[in-house]
Amino acid sequence: MTKSIPTSFAALAMLIAAPAQANELRDDLAADMPGLMELYRDLHANPELSFEEHETAAKLAARMRDLGFEVTEKVGRTGVVSVMRNGDGPTVLLRADMDGLPVVEQTGLPYASKQTTTTENGVTTGIMHACGHDTHMAGFIGAAQLLVDHKDKWQGTLVMVLQPAEEVGLGALAMLEDGLYSDFPKPDYALAFHDAAAPAPAGTIGYTPGYALANVDSVDITVKGIGGHGAYPHTTVDPVVLASAIVMKLQTVVSRNSSPLDPAVITVGSFHAGAKHNIISDEAKLQLTVRSYSDASRQQLLDGIRRVARGEAITAGLPENMMPEITVEDPYTPSTFNDPGFTEAIAAGFKQRFGDERVMEWPAVMGGEDFSQFRRAAPDDVQSMIFWISGTPQPMLEALERDGTPLPSLHSPFWAPDAEKVIATGAEALAGAAIELMPAAED
Ligand SMILES: [Zn+2]
Ligand SMILES: [Zn+2]
Repeated sequence: MTKSIPTSFAALAMLIAAPAQANELRDDLAADMPGLMELYRDLHANPELSFEEHETAAKLAARMRDLGFEVTEKVGRTGVVSVMRNGDGPTVLLRADMDGLPVVEQTGLPYASKQTTTTENGVTTGIMHACGHDTHMAGFIGAAQLLVDHKDKWQGTLVMVLQPAEEVGLGALAMLEDGLYSDFPKPDYALAFHDAAAPAPAGTIGYTPGYALANVDSVDITVKGIGGHGAYPHTTVDPVVLASAIVMKLQTVVSRNSSPLDPAVITVGSFHAGAKHNIISDEAKLQLTVRSYSDASRQQLLDGIRRVARGEAITAGLPENMMPEITVEDPYTPSTFNDPGFTEAIAAGFKQRFGDERVMEWPAVMGGEDFSQFRRAAPDDVQSMIFWISGTPQPMLEALERDGTPLPSLHSPFWAPDAEKVIATGAEALAGAAIELMPAAED
């Protein structure tokens, strides 16, 4: 998923340089950081693609076992579930995602990935943790260490989930379908963080109550036509002209059918037809990404796409048996909803811990995250929140301020976050929030 914030917060760097009040967790974490950075560099150098996170999962499962968790591997293919029961109390789920991306790393870091892979269609490419999931995993292990070291501070059940295949939007669902909520304690609360290429100093936390990330639908439209000679168009039904009309008319679904107050996106990312100058093809193929927040607006967009495609085909004079074929990829990635009251409460804890200037509300984005599935699988039982942690290195922020040099986005081959700040903030935030959610009873 990707992140960008319109306003610049670079001036806050000075404030953040003055650390919030020291505390026990932070002191312990400082001692753990060299080991966590070593783990980070190892994960960064050895990324694995979605559902192929075998080595990553084995490595992290071994660490969780050493920390005293009951560890189950291969949940949802390559997922790892680690449970620690520590008396009566609520159940808290913490999640990190494990997969890298088919990107050739160009950061020039000494521990840059040299891994390569050959995709299904025969293209050889590099593999890179270009989304920063390596920072998530290192922060997650840091949180686990803190929670084990401070077991006297909390009471309840901790379920720590290492999820595969976030980048293809399938890993969380795979774990849920493989018994995450039936074979393991079902959580009352679920938390995760994601690094962000945001114009804010590294270590700044961004939170978004309510809808935070969008429904992501991939839609394929096959437009049929009647092919023929390019010099005799009157003997054909040209699918290029028809598909072009569909592309243009689709723009009105968002602008004329959706409420202006309800965010929605329809993007035609791919349009393929024909083979040669003078041949009218008999088919055109369109690929769309469709973004929305609520179930109702998602349905409205998908209905609108079907209506427009069919309407334009009728206008072009095609018979009933040649209407466009429309497929909506199933499963899709549902929107991520941060329970507002829960999110405000966790954010208030972060402000106390890190200082007001380091924790701020950020606008929702139209990217997607399958963390949404952990709440969606049991919306009456689970309250959830995902928050952002800026990883933007100081020199990049300064270049942005100085001459507007754009920040690389997540998934960029140049994304080299200030991992130390992301990991330290993530570990302390996750552990601190878990302790607040399941405080030890006073004796
Ligand atoms: Zn990503
Ligand atoms: Zn990601």
